[in-house]
Amino acid sequence: MGKVKGFMEFQRELPIDREPLERIDDWQEFHKEMASSELQKQGARCMDCGTPYCHTGFMLSGMATGCPIHNLVPEWNDYVYNGFWHEAYDRLIKTNNFPEFTGRVCPAPCEGSCVLGIIEPPVTIKNIEYSIIEHAFSEGWVEPKQILHKTGKRVAVVGSGPSGLACADQLNKAGHSVTVFERDDRFGGLMMYGIPNMKLDKKLVLERRIDLMKQEGITFMESTEVGVDYPADKLLEEFDAVVLSTGATKPRNLAAEGREIPGIHFAMDFLRSSTRALLDQTTPLLSAEGKHVVVIGGGDTGTDCVATSLRQGCKSVIQLEIMPKPPLERQSDNPWPEWPKTFRVDYGQEEAASVQGEDPRKYSMMTKKFLADDQGALLAVEVSKVEWSEVDGRFMPRPVAGTEQILPADLVLLAMGFIGPEEHLLQQLQILQDERSNIRATDKTYLTNRERIFAAGDARRGQSLVVWAIHEGRAAARECDRFLMGETHLP
Ligand SMILES: Cc1cc2nc3c(=O)[nH]c(=O)nc-3n(C[C@H](O)[C@H](O)[C@H](O)COP(=O)(O)OP(=O)(O)OC[C@H]3O[C@@H](n4cnc5c(N)ncnc54)[C@H](O)[C@@H]3O)c2cc1C
Ligand code: SF4
Repeated sequence: MGKVKGFMEFQRELPIDREPLERIDDWQEFHKEMASSELQKQGARCMDCGTPYCHTGFMLSGMATGCPIHNLVPEWNDYVYNGFWHEAYDRLIKTNNFPEFTGRVCPAPCEGSCVLGIIEPPVTIKNIEYSIIEHAFSEGWVEPKQILHKTGKRVAVVGSGPSGLACADQLNKAGHSVTVFERDDRFGGLMMYGIPNMKLDKKLVLERRIDLMKQEGITFMESTEVGVDYPADKLLEEFDAVVLSTGATKPRNLAAEGREIPGIHFAMDFLRSSTRALLDQTTPLLSAEGKHVVVIGGGDTGTDCVATSLRQGCKSVIQLEIMPKPPLERQSDNPWPEWPKTFRVDYGQEEAASVQGEDPRKYSMMTKKFLADDQGALLAVEVSKVEWSEVDGRFMPRPVAGTEQILPADLVLLAMGFIGPEEHLLQQLQILQDERSNIRATDKTYLTNRERIFAAGDARRGQSLVVWAIHEGRAAARECDRFLMGETHLP
């Protein structure tokens, strides 16, 4: 815990982000650091709540409650309050391989279940996590670890997203020789080419960690697609075990009239082209410059498209969401400690509101068709309002007659989520998939139907979060180690 009655003395405070109108002129991160003295007060707000739900990480009403990797939150809050930063860092890395990623991009289910949140705004757990790890980097405490004992076992990890990286890190610590295969030219999975630079800096943050892992002895093979550049059947000949952490990268499409008109793209193609151009210092293949942009999808990916479009100099941007606008406060059917399903303004919407004078989101909106001009170029999107009602026990949207609107559009970005892993490698390896098309491997063993082949991350769990991917990578590493050695000391 922090300070006795600290929660009565201090208010919740977060660092003030860079001004929206200033930050859309560049691609730098928008977070600012908080002074240590202020952070100590925030740590002091952690109270002796008896049963801290913040680190439970169990599923409630289909959503995570508390931290999925069971970060020891009350312990590091106490250390931060008392100014023991190294001890806080030691506690943090017991459960989280990459706090610098989660401290930036995690939606913080821990804060949704913080006991203080029942009566007051919760403890700023995510920002404290971010500050502990950045403090550790700036003090030089995050150094490559010497692996003294080697087992002689070889493991291939396919995919370098957060699940593959966490898995590789854990297996390396256990003394195995680990090779990470990545088909892209840079490592990090969706953290590299999905999440934009202003949320997670590629060179300063992502590559800093990859460099450390290389120094610790992990082999990284970029531009190597297993099943294309490296034969799938060679994996089991050359390695004692394999972990598939290939992500769930098949995008959900929209079967609306006019879908074939040029100018309608999947969000990931747009975001990838933007980050690649930034890192290679070239012009993006797909740009929002001078265009009216309509983003279809109200989640994180849609928000990243809004923020990217603004930085590229779009004429306007609208974000369509089929669900109704969430309430400002928790409803009675969404009690603490469940994840609060309440209205939030994320960085992209804050930026769009600063430029356009209003939030870019339009709720309860269904896309009816896409319209082209005489030359066949994209001109507009026809939308209508929807009403939600229960049909055969399921909530279904129904268009409301007379609410149709035409929204001008030169670029449409489909950000409606992902429907599962790509299949060609799975077919080559004869890996079975479940009814949601994810790799079939149980929560207990992470083992697929093929002996010596494990699975982790979005490829096994379905589209999720960085923190869940880290959880999966750690768990698959533990089971893989148990399989290789007959026992395991990995957590
Ligand atoms: C735009 C966007 C924004 C997001 N924002 C957030 C956020 O703010 N917070 C959050 O927590 N989560 C966010 N997410 C979700 C999060 O990024 C994912 O849940 C997470 O990255 C999944 O990790 P993973 O390791 O399972 O898979 P991925 O990150 O998808 O990595 C899989 C990797 O495997 C590689 N691969 C696939 N097949 C092969 C092969 N045959 N050979 C070699 N390599 C292969 C891929 O190239 C990829 O690099 C976001 C997702 C997107 C798309
Ligand atoms: S990883 Fe996410 S859920 Fe866990 S403590 Fe950090 S911000 Fe909270």
